[in-house]
Amino acid sequence: MQNFDFDLFVIGGGSGGVRAARMAAQRGARVALAEVAAMGGTCVNVGCIPKKLYSYAAHYAESFEESHGFGWVGEAPTLDWELLKTNRAREISRLNGIYIQLLKNAGVQIIEDWATLAGKHSIEVGGKTYSAKHILIATGGTPTVPEVPGREHVITSNEIFDLAPFPKRLLVVGGGYIACEFASIFNGLGAQVIQAYRGAQVLRGFDDEVRAFIAGEMRKAGVDLQLNTDVASISKTDQGLLVTLKSGATLVVDTVLYATGREPLTGGLCLDTADVAVNEAGAIQVNTHYQTSVPSIYAVGDVTARLQLTPVALGEAMVVVDQLFGPAAGKRPRSMSYDFIPTAVFTHPNIGTVGYSEADAREKFGAISVYSSDFKALKHTLSGSSERTFMKLLVEDATDRVVGLHMVGADAGEIVQGFAVAMKAGATKAVFDSTIGIHPTAAEEFVTLREPVKKPA
Ligand code: FAD
Ligand code: NDP
Repeated sequence: MQNFDFDLFVIGGGSGGVRAARMAAQRGARVALAEVAAMGGTCVNVGCIPKKLYSYAAHYAESFEESHGFGWVGEAPTLDWELLKTNRAREISRLNGIYIQLLKNAGVQIIEDWATLAGKHSIEVGGKTYSAKHILIATGGTPTVPEVPGREHVITSNEIFDLAPFPKRLLVVGGGYIACEFASIFNGLGAQVIQAYRGAQVLRGFDDEVRAFIAGEMRKAGVDLQLNTDVASISKTDQGLLVTLKSGATLVVDTVLYATGREPLTGGLCLDTADVAVNEAGAIQVNTHYQTSVPSIYAVGDVTARLQLTPVALGEAMVVVDQLFGPAAGKRPRSMSYDFIPTAVFTHPNIGTVGYSEADAREKFGAISVYSSDFKALKHTLSGSSERTFMKLLVEDATDRVVGLHMVGADAGEIVQGFAVAMKAGATKAVFDSTIGIHPTAAEEFVTLREPVKKPA
């Protein structure tokens, strides 16, 4: 039998890679992990965590304004952008340290360099070649910017967190998660934000009413959302970046953020050395066991370009570890289901969603009933804010099962997480109806939606 240096060699210390390496080592495997940048990957360094911290920062703006209706008097404080950046950076480096410590405590050998595949069981990193029984590729993704003239002047989400100075006039290009979140966040932080999206409505793939509702709320909050709008060119002038739109209109801004999608990070990995197959989008192809075209090489997370969410990468990593090294003591091997994965878009207000959109539910289940509510949250009776909350339930008529649940409103991500458990368990509308609400909350609305607004014909 061949002797390997490691049982598992993980390439990439992001959400999926760190989880897999740590869990495998805890099961007694000899594990190495190569990471070329800061430990924790996209989510910790330039994704979920710093984004959410900036979103918290931005929410204070509306809180200061709304506090007057509750009797607070006085001027609102102003934002110290440098202080926010410093505090964020300190917290992120604390997290980097925790990740490294967790790996070391589990016995993982960390190699801080770029890794490439050197064969079906071998990896080259830092000038050395290592052998491993199994290899896990968890190299994530990277932002893409289309070939627009002047693209050298734009930034991506990787650069937005450390901008200097604060972008007083910001153009955000795109209509997906990142574009909508950063348009909301920088609007809240005090920038003048224009968001240009090429399509007819933002957040393609989300429920149509949710899309229209969030677009309206973002506009009310101050984002200048321009639909059916695309950039023709960008050039640098003394006044700032001159952006010419395809309509011929022009804008002058300080910063242009392109949030036009991400691609799998496979360049420089030498996938062909080991014959690892990729699809036409450049994503590593895997079977239901996350095995690539080479049986000893696995891949999880954004590099497989499926659902690009941290909990998905974590879930996939756990499945691989259970398969290779057995489940944790007393547990059954994990499996991964892509049904009813909840997600939130941290726009202001948030979107929380689980299950099907109305259009998809109609296609999948045929007859469905739609329940929805659009209301002013109790807080805003005094706050002076015109923000409204939207909630929607989709019920399959044949089974009474709730197959879609959507919310636009404060803390929608927090609220929808709990409902996702109920929906995974197959909760019916009758179960929702028999659940007692928590009063006074916005969430109670989900268990008091009595009459459908749309019934099957
Ligand atoms: P990553 O976390 O990207 O990790 C890959 C790692 O591999 C990186 O650290 C990279 O340096 C390293 N690497 C790459 N190639 C090599 C190599 N050859 N050698 C050594 N190291 C290498 N998801 C959510 O669930 N919620 C959110 O709120 C959320 N917000 C986001 C906000 C932004 C702005 C972005 C960009 C993403 C966000 N995501 C969010 C998505 C989430 O960050 C990703 O889905 C998740 O990080 C994917 O994990 P991963 O392990 O696949 O890859
Ligand atoms: P998305 O795929 O969500 O959105 C990309 C946007 O860019 C779409 O609106 C798309 O338009 C538009 N676009 C694509 N190509 C072009 C082009 N050539 N010119 C103009 N517009 C273009 O990608 P993001 O970059 O926003 O985010 C990547 C992924 O990261 C997300 O899908 C999500 O999985 C994850 N993420 C998750 C978050 C969360 O959980 N809260 C937050 C941030 C990111 P069209 O729809 O017309 O194709």
